[in-house]
Amino acid sequence: MQPLIELENVVKSFGEHRAVDNVSLSIRKGEKVVIIGPSGSGKSTLLRTINCLEPMDSGTMRFAGKPAGYVQRGSELVPDKPRNICALRTRIGMVFQQFNLFPHMSVEQNVMEGPVTVLGESKANARATAMDMLGKVGMAEFADRYPASLSGGQKQRVAIARALAMKPDLMLFDEPTSALDPELVGEVFDAIKQLAVDGMTMVIVTHNMGFAREVADTVIFMENGSFLAKGSPGDFFQRQCEDPRVQSFIDKI
Ligand code: ADP
Ligand code: MG
Repeated sequence: MQPLIELENVVKSFGEHRAVDNVSLSIRKGEKVVIIGPSGSGKSTLLRTINCLEPMDSGTMRFAGKPAGYVQRGSELVPDKPRNICALRTRIGMVFQQFNLFPHMSVEQNVMEGPVTVLGESKANARATAMDMLGKVGMAEFADRYPASLSGGQKQRVAIARALAMKPDLMLFDEPTSALDPELVGEVFDAIKQLAVDGMTMVIVTHNMGFAREVADTVIFMENGSFLAKGSPGDFFQRQCEDPRVQSFIDKI
């Protein structure tokens, strides 16, 4: 089966520092990939590159078999037209550590905003989509509330619904529970697990090993911009953990 997304030899530097150093990764439809690794290892930069928030220096990305975000011009790789990048980005949903909800909009309006302004959906359709997605994350009854009145876990579930309302093919989660009080982590992971059951293709950066074991098809350990270890959870936690660098990281968290 054709992979949903394929990165080949992707490099992204900030000055002299290679934040993403020659990464190749292929993700099939429905696959759940968990990325772990120390702070500064390039996890966020990799997700931002996949989502075309950071232009890559070299390498290629294909989405559903087509070149994504970049076009080859002679020997150079140049960013694709903004219009094409925007079209691609609507197919990729991203959830950050910070929820970034619009404070002056209700929960429902926050989730409707993308479908109305980006996808051009009618308000009635967008409202139906919003309620559907809020239902998926257990937040339908909070539709009329404002973000300020919600807990961190509830805000993050709204942020997930907002990303889902764009009907993405791929969801990227960058440490979605790191800003939460420990007792609120479970409700957010439960919402993500439900997406896994629904067959969503996902890349999740998290240090929650229980979640990685339970949900991931593939676990990757990233360090200094490269993949140091990669495998199924069974393989990863048995064999790869013999690597002292991975082991010492896992022991610390
Ligand atoms: P992680 O998410 O694994 O903690 P990041 O992708 O945020 O790592 O960062 C990887 C490296 O790239 C770090 O050394 C960081 O300081 C650097 N970096 C990230 N974003 C920028 C930026 N916008 N400008 C300069 N350096 C950056
Ligand atoms: Mg990060």
